[in-house]
Amino acid sequence: EVKDAKAFILGGKHRQIDPGNMLVITRPKETSIDELEGAWVEMHKRKMQDQERVVERESLNGEIIVLFLRSTGTFVFLYNGNNKLTFEGRPLTRNKFYIFKQGGIIRGNEIAPIYYSEVSSRFFQKPGGIKIVLSAVNIEYRYPLSQNGIRPFSFSEESGQLIGIMGVSGSGKSTLLNVLNGKLKPRKGKILINSNDIHRDAAKIEGQIGFVPQDDLLIEELSVYQNLYYNAKLCFGNLNEERISEIVEKVLRDLGLDEIRDLKVGNPLNKFISGGQRKRLNIGLELMREPSILFIDEPTSGLSSLDSDMVMALLKEQAVKGKLVIANIHQPSSDNFKLLDKLWVIDKGGYPIYTGNPLEAVVYFKTLSGQVNPGQTECLCCGNIAPEHILKIIEAKEVNPSGYHTQKRKVRPEEWYQHYKEKIAPGRSEKPARNVLPPNMFSIPGIEKQFWIFSVRNFLSKISNRQYLFISLVEAPVLAFILGYFTKYLHEGEYLFAENVNLPSFLFMAVVVSLFLGLTVSAEEIIKDRKILERESFLNLSWFSYLNSKLGWVFLLSAIQMISFVIVGNLILEIRGMTLTYWLVLFSAACFANMLGLAISSAFNSVVTIYILVPFVLVPQLLLGGVVVKFDDLHDSVTDKVYVPLVGDLMASRWAFEALAVQQFAGNRFQKHFFDHEQLNSDASFKASFLIPRLMSKVELAERNIRIGAGTVETERDLVILRNEIDYLQRSSGLMPFEYIDNINPEEFHGLVAEETAGYLIYMRLHYSQIAREAAAERDMVYLHLEEEMGSHALHNLRQGHHNKALADLLLNRYEVNFIYRSDTRLVQKKDPVYLIPESNIGRAHFYAPVKKFNYVYVDTLWFNISALWLMSLILYLAILLNIPGRVVAFFESFSFLTEK
Ligand code: ADP
Ligand code: MG
Repeated sequence: EVKDAKAFILGGKHRQIDPGNMLVITRPKETSIDELEGAWVEMHKRKMQDQERVVERESLNGEIIVLFLRSTGTFVFLYNGNNKLTFEGRPLTRNKFYIFKQGGIIRGNEIAPIYYSEVSSRFFQKPGGIKIVLSAVNIEYRYPLSQNGIRPFSFSEESGQLIGIMGVSGSGKSTLLNVLNGKLKPRKGKILINSNDIHRDAAKIEGQIGFVPQDDLLIEELSVYQNLYYNAKLCFGNLNEERISEIVEKVLRDLGLDEIRDLKVGNPLNKFISGGQRKRLNIGLELMREPSILFIDEPTSGLSSLDSDMVMALLKEQAVKGKLVIANIHQPSSDNFKLLDKLWVIDKGGYPIYTGNPLEAVVYFKTLSGQVNPGQTECLCCGNIAPEHILKIIEAKEVNPSGYHTQKRKVRPEEWYQHYKEKIAPGRSEKPARNVLPPNMFSIPGIEKQFWIFSVRNFLSKISNRQYLFISLVEAPVLAFILGYFTKYLHEGEYLFAENVNLPSFLFMAVVVSLFLGLTVSAEEIIKDRKILERESFLNLSWFSYLNSKLGWVFLLSAIQMISFVIVGNLILEIRGMTLTYWLVLFSAACFANMLGLAISSAFNSVVTIYILVPFVLVPQLLLGGVVVKFDDLHDSVTDKVYVPLVGDLMASRWAFEALAVQQFAGNRFQKHFFDHEQLNSDASFKASFLIPRLMSKVELAERNIRIGAGTVETERDLVILRNEIDYLQRSSGLMPFEYIDNINPEEFHGLVAEETAGYLIYMRLHYSQIAREAAAERDMVYLHLEEEMGSHALHNLRQGHHNKALADLLLNRYEVNFIYRSDTRLVQKKDPVYLIPESNIGRAHFYAPVKKFNYVYVDTLWFNISALWLMSLILYLAILLNIPGRVVAFFESFSFLTEK
């Protein structure tokens, strides 16, 4: 290299340079040889030509000689001719050497620009790469219920080119890219990559197409390196860690992002890296997979001219390296326009109106529109082209008689399209293609591995956001403190758990907190990743793995939030022995809310929508949770006053609150010794003291009315109730069945039947009184036993520390005056709901039931309710997995779209 460098610098000794490290840019004509150095040049040139180390430029005077220093990967060049050339905006001095930097361009008025990529590719390009031909055969696309789309369009383009698409905004450029990259399926026609249909042979062309949408695909909280790294992990399931980091390093170097590798990406408002760097990083995510065809939507929009130049140089480099690069370019600068190998112009309505050489496009449109100097494409003095002229000509408006421009276009898109079909389309030729595709490293990992990659990526991005993390972790215990502090009711200056009248409110608020936190933790999760998700579905990455990784995170966060909430809250209110129970219930409720949040997040397309929706989701949970308004007091259309109404059963708050309240009442360390006896006592004494006396008075009344012939509808209803209740009593008591039960009807209910009925009821009452007495005695026994065992003081303390009176009042319905509600067919017990065992066999029950019966099995309310919460979560999970919320929203959107039309 030292020898080469010497020979290069000490002018005139270029023949001593190793031809493998040298490249000559020269005029194609043989005459230029004179200016080189005789026979040596001939030989050298031939040698270099063999290695494709000669680049030709029309009308270049003299040569540009490029030396490649392999060890550092540096290119150095000098120019020995008389043309006025510039490099990086400054004129080149003859025979002075310059370092040819990445993205550099040597320009001159007379010559086509010489790009870094063109030079470097001669040294790096692997000869004999597989050529790629992308063809479209009469593709046509139309958005549903719209005139917009792509009109019939055919083309055939081979790799190694940079194709630019121009057109006014809204003409269909992005649509065309999405049709070509396979996201939108054309209505007619087909798209082929080396004769493989991109839709029919989707598996075969996997990994060949790369697509960089206009929006960012970056994960804001991660660094530049991490963004590339996790992308690589997801794209190369079969490479080891070492290879992956090699690939990432290479992308960092190639894209000039090495210096900012550890910077957080941030978002365009909260900037850490520049717009051009963001764009290059976005492109890098796709380039890393080495797709053979790269589609890029508006790579330069919104970038400074310097950034645009860098991005365009990068794209050109990819083209030179043998890829087919197709990009939407809005208002390219003259220099960038000159980089294009081909230009496509699309007009409003999706009409293709030009395909071909970019410079000739100017001539074409000038000629068709009858402008002066149609043959002149560039400025005579500076050599600049004004690509915006093309759009101006296409969009030119008619002038009205008073000399003002009208809104009407001189040439409508259809007419331009007609010209295109007549003048350009027929000249198109089909490029031959072999039915082989270049090998591709792209291989997505299995769903389990994806799950881990997603999880780690998500975790890292979460913990890098300190503010979010801090608030998430501190919020729950602070809320618990606030709730606990304000609901700490002091009884005569002293706090006693038993006397705290606010316990039910605290429990309900705890449920509300769990739902709120659960919802807010997850509501933004999916929506934030919307663009990234779109890309990941483009890459066929697993939605299942992604969703589970999100769930893993929000569940973990909810678990931590809820345990910290319960610990602080229970400590303040001196709730004993319930930590795990409360946590389990509140965690389950929070997980349900997590699911709900994810479902909303997956369905809607803006964060604002979500926050507007949160009240819609939470208000019913508050209202229909059974606490704020009692279920029996709801509107008549929803409640039958027997069981919790169905709308209530749909509320997570109902299940969670009931589980907490019942378990706190029935499962605490004091009550659990007595619960069974008290339940027996409650049941029997209700029947003996309330139900049966009420039935007996009905017997008397009905018998008299029927006897005197004054039987009414009311009497008939009483008889139905009587019959049902006696049936219920005989079943639940297990005693001798009542033999006249079928005779309890208006025709036969007199004399013997009525007498027998009254007798049977007396018999039943005796039976239940007996049971009630025994149960009470047994409970007293247990009490005495305990007293003996632990002392009466300790027993008293146990009671004061565990049995809350306010909660007992609520669960025993002590403030209710009517212990019986008469429905059309039954007498419904309203006393002691927490002791009443429900009859429904599908799990329906009144509020505060101690157990639920499902399929002839009794399940404790705690476990039944937790299962109900998880069942609801599971249903939501499946819905999200199948994207049902999204589809429902899309359905309604299409509906409103329809009415707008
Ligand atoms: P651009 O050339 O600016 O990239 P697009 O390809 O995004 O334009 O859009 C082309 C036309 O199609 C526009 O007029 C746009 O309003 C319309 N369009 C885009 N998406 C849809 C859609 N989903 N349904 C109906 N019309 C659409
Ligand atoms: Mg667009």
